[in-house]
Amino acid sequence: MSKRLSFSNLNRKLQNILDSLPEHRKGKNMIYQIRDVALGAFSVFFMQSPSFLAHQENMQLNTGHNNAASLFGLRTLPSDNQIRNLLDPLEPKHLFPMFAEVSTLLEENGELQGFRDYRDNLLIILDGTQYFSSKEIHCENCSHHTHGDETTYFHGVITPVIAAPGNSRVISLEPEFIVPQDGHEKQDCERAAAKRWLEQHGYRYASLKATLLGDDLYCNQPLCESVLEKKFNFIFVCKPDSHPELYQTVEFLNANGQVEQFSERSWKGKYADIYTYRYVNQVPLRAGAGALQVNWCELTIQRETTGKITYRNAWATQHEITPTNVKAIVRAGRTRWKVENENNNVLKTKGYHFEHNFGHGSQHLAAFLLTLNLLAFLFHTVLDLTDAKYKLLREKLRVRKTFFDDLRALTRYLYFESWEHLMDFMIAKLKLTPPPADSS
Ligand SMILES: [Zn+2]
Repeated sequence: MSKRLSFSNLNRKLQNILDSLPEHRKGKNMIYQIRDVALGAFSVFFMQSPSFLAHQENMQLNTGHNNAASLFGLRTLPSDNQIRNLLDPLEPKHLFPMFAEVSTLLEENGELQGFRDYRDNLLIILDGTQYFSSKEIHCENCSHHTHGDETTYFHGVITPVIAAPGNSRVISLEPEFIVPQDGHEKQDCERAAAKRWLEQHGYRYASLKATLLGDDLYCNQPLCESVLEKKFNFIFVCKPDSHPELYQTVEFLNANGQVEQFSERSWKGKYADIYTYRYVNQVPLRAGAGALQVNWCELTIQRETTGKITYRNAWATQHEITPTNVKAIVRAGRTRWKVENENNNVLKTKGYHFEHNFGHGSQHLAAFLLTLNLLAFLFHTVLDLTDAKYKLLREKLRVRKTFFDDLRALTRYLYFESWEHLMDFMIAKLKLTPPPADSS
């Protein structure tokens, strides 16, 4: 295990970042340091236990020590109310250096190699998701839509991740919050957020060599131009409805035999699917002079026996498409669904609760907590990639819920001096063979 990516080292780095959160209180009782309040919220997400802090409060009263202090470095134990009140004024951008820190450490330790795909590129998926919705509760940063006399408030965010085909893990990068803009379509708000993300973080991630993946709304000229300007590659879903000029050109070229096409049979047990690839280079992304020329490919999957089409999708890319790389480009493009499956679903349904006992706040609370939540998820992913003991335990306690149930119960009743101590205890009690000390 790389010491630099150990839980204690990551946690120390997080503490350093939280130590410099701005103090926004004036002349009040400052017993609860802002860093403890943020760290406390993080510990709740990391342990996936809404009552983690309350349990540690009890342990402190009964025994004089607690796991929030020993595992996470809290000096005082904040209440949910203090978390809500003290974090609300803080903008999530204060947490962003932690994402950069982690991706840099992963790259330096060679851990991103396993994520490199087509032409040795990292695939970075940009995708918007909604992380809060209510008909009653809202704050000054809520977006809203109105149907008749009913208004729904919501928050949207782009949660970029590094993903790879055949790899179940995803690495969370800095989120970008979708903010309401008066008179703008939802799509425009997401595109504007994507542009802000490119402005703020694009240079760093493009320097790692990366291809951006995104759905059809990313596949428009201004956004593609920003992407290219930041030296990214892209493979974006490209639908006929939103790209009439491109598809007219493809149709015209096809009629003249200039769209390449080939099919392959793929056996799925008893039946076969026919994969048909079509592609053409240098077609205009939109109508008019100055249109960006992109390369286009399409995959259709058809059941051989029935002729039924089970899948069809198409992409635009700046990678030149050849007979030898079209399958790799399509495979990379299809990785986009992973952000839904691996990231957003995990965050929404697997116990990394987006909405829970801290409430919504009136300023930035929802966004700040979401960002801490992403960091908790990222820490678990890093441990799963690099920490042999953690990996061993997750393989033994394969069901996510079992693993977290055990963490919750153990830390409620027993005191551990460190995360390492907790992992060693579990490995010993489960009678597992501990990995060699220097294993990675
Ligand atoms: Zn809100």
